[in-house]
Amino acid sequence: MGKYKRVLLKLSGESLAGDQGFGINPVVVEAIGKQIKRVHDAGIDVAIVVGGGNIWRGLAGSAKGMDRAQADYMGMLATVINALAIQDALEQQNVPARVQTAIEMRQVAEPYIRRKATRHMEKGRVVIFGAGTGNPYFSTDTTAALRAAEIEADVILMGKKGTEGIYDKDPNQNDDAKKFDNISYKEILLRSLSVMDSTATSLCMDNDIPLVVFKIDDFENIYRAAIGEDIGTTVGG
Ligand code: UDP
Repeated sequence: MGKYKRVLLKLSGESLAGDQGFGINPVVVEAIGKQIKRVHDAGIDVAIVVGGGNIWRGLAGSAKGMDRAQADYMGMLATVINALAIQDALEQQNVPARVQTAIEMRQVAEPYIRRKATRHMEKGRVVIFGAGTGNPYFSTDTTAALRAAEIEADVILMGKKGTEGIYDKDPNQNDDAKKFDNISYKEILLRSLSVMDSTATSLCMDNDIPLVVFKIDDFENIYRAAIGEDIGTTVGG
């Protein structure tokens, strides 16, 4: 048995897009689903928070003059589209999965109810949380921290594109950038490292939620991170 009984996997919207960089690539979603199935088959409870950046980001809209809250609601709806795609990929592989949304849309998904979410996991179902926190001005990273605390997940697994973990400076621009194997939330805030937004970072720090940041480009890393292999960067304390 690995070290985690229950994991919260944060998938950025971008990770569902594949090389096209936009929208949903069903082949990519299927490949991600296969790795989630492996985690599920290993007896680990899996909850997923998915972003929406492959479709729409609120900030991009407000930067071009849209009302920020309106643009953020559009972003939250984008995450629901992604959540349904992940649910489909899991169900195609016979993994029972439920979507719960923070904004009610009962014809397509259940509303978010914490006790129902944990019950689903006890019954061996994967739960996918859509529509972020349901509030504008927040991110899906903050959603991941919030839901992880609520469902008492042992860890947040955060897949990042293009980097192996957390570095002291941007590894894509600095050849001498050094990767951390372990780092504390305090140090992330002190060094202003762009891992998550500061709201999400503080929520994780205040509630002692461990985080593993790993490279999502290799989908097998989802499984490796979930069974507790030493990959990427572990954040805690
Ligand atoms: N969003 C929001 N409140 C939330 C979560 C998300 O308003 O609690 C909106 C916000 O506009 C954000 C968009 O949904 O830009 C997509 O989420 P995010 O940018 O976190 O997705 P990711 O970068 O992980 O793909």
